[in-house]
Amino acid sequence: MGSRQVTSWHGKNITVAGLGVSGISAARALAGLGAVVTVVDNGDGDAHRARAAELAEQGIEVRLGRLADGAHAGEVLPEGTELVVTSPGWKPDSPLFAAAAEAGVDVVGDVEIAWQLRGSTPGRKAAPWLAITGTNGKTTTTQMLASILKAAGLRTAAVGNIGTPIVDVVTGEEEYDVLAVELSSYQLHWAPSLRAHSAAVLNLAPDHLDWHGSMEAYAADKGRIYEGNTVACVYNVADRATEDLVAEADVEEGCRAIGFTLGAPGPSMLGVVDGILVDRAFVENRQKNAQELAEVKDVNPPAPHNIANALAAAALARAFGVEPRAVRDGLRNFRPDAHRVAHVDEVGGVVYVDDSKATNTHAAEASLAAFETVVWIAGGLAKGATFDELVRKSAKGLRGVVLIGADRALIAEALARHAPEVPVIDLERTDTGAMLAAVREAARLAEPGDTVLLAPACASMDMFANYNKRGDAFADAVRELAAGKA
Ligand code: ADP
Repeated sequence: MGSRQVTSWHGKNITVAGLGVSGISAARALAGLGAVVTVVDNGDGDAHRARAAELAEQGIEVRLGRLADGAHAGEVLPEGTELVVTSPGWKPDSPLFAAAAEAGVDVVGDVEIAWQLRGSTPGRKAAPWLAITGTNGKTTTTQMLASILKAAGLRTAAVGNIGTPIVDVVTGEEEYDVLAVELSSYQLHWAPSLRAHSAAVLNLAPDHLDWHGSMEAYAADKGRIYEGNTVACVYNVADRATEDLVAEADVEEGCRAIGFTLGAPGPSMLGVVDGILVDRAFVENRQKNAQELAEVKDVNPPAPHNIANALAAAALARAFGVEPRAVRDGLRNFRPDAHRVAHVDEVGGVVYVDDSKATNTHAAEASLAAFETVVWIAGGLAKGATFDELVRKSAKGLRGVVLIGADRALIAEALARHAPEVPVIDLERTDTGAMLAAVREAARLAEPGDTVLLAPACASMDMFANYNKRGDAFADAVRELAAGKA
């Protein structure tokens, strides 16, 4: 894949793959700059047609469903295409991309377009990007970073994999001093010329391997975030793979590797000493000095993995020159999104926590480690994951386990192998109502002082529309329990 910057979009023949939110925003922005845009999508429902009609008014051609010759619209490269802009979900082995490769046409994503279009509005400076990726914690860390930057009085937004489509943000009315950008591995894969001011890889665990093909390919895509960084490459001291990616990256002269750790920081690191988040990277005489940034209790919630997220956000903010006080204020102001280690209620001395967003084993492991004794509600769609390592590492704190969902047998087997003494209740259910039964069983297993934790380590779609609905069902069940109805 090339990394050519397009100098003029006028008259350029561009095919946008996917009529979703990011595809529509890219198509509109490019057409607005005079490009000749065609959007292709295999879908052909009412919603697709309505969107297509709107785009047609702007002179954008949309090809839906099947073409006259019976081929799928999303698989055929329109004649004369000079560049393909893909939506994040499209697999790299899609026939459209094979056709593009054959024709010598580059494929890029909406983040690449956003990067190239930033500053294209006359009289507007391009805001630098502070970029964040990782297997888990991206959204939380990006929002923490935006909160810190705001506390420093900077005009900013959390964008990328979240919020307003990034192309709209960089081409819109509002002016920004700096952007906090969450990037998925897919988006990085398709963003060859992106050069962030500074970037962080929070952690690396196997995920989305069906898309990337291998762990190496997944890691390599994540590692692209460091390419061309100018001030800091932020890595996780506890996760060697993230440091290796820094070592492999081609960065600007003078760019520094900055570690974050839950332990005491060495020079050029941020870490924790006696309940205080400290900076030994962006201080004078870092061999001897450290700067206090905030207290652990300023982090919401103060679970270990979330303190790591806060340190990563602080490192990026400090790399951008933010004062210590703004780090503290930004962390204090931050409220996590729903279903991320969210305290639901306390019933009979047992605390109920909703971490429905723990959709993979790495996230569930972090979540379980945050509590001393846990009744764990788990299960759902495993997405090809194995559970041995998770169970082995978490067995010590388990009071009991309640299993739900399609792939619960995989977890049951891992528990039988590595934690045979832990009581397991297999509900053998995949219906939506099973959550009430799960909470009831968990309440029976729990003792005062325990935490009942929904951290399924699996996707939700076997039982619920999404992880939000799963978390809501858990919270509803806890409310029934508290009301004495369950
Ligand atoms: P992402 O955007 O990467 O999916 P989120 O911030 O939405 O990440 O958090 C998703 C889940 O991942 C959380 O509910 C929590 O269980 C877990 N998590 C968050 N931060 C970390 C971390 N630093 N390490 C491991 N797991 C984490």
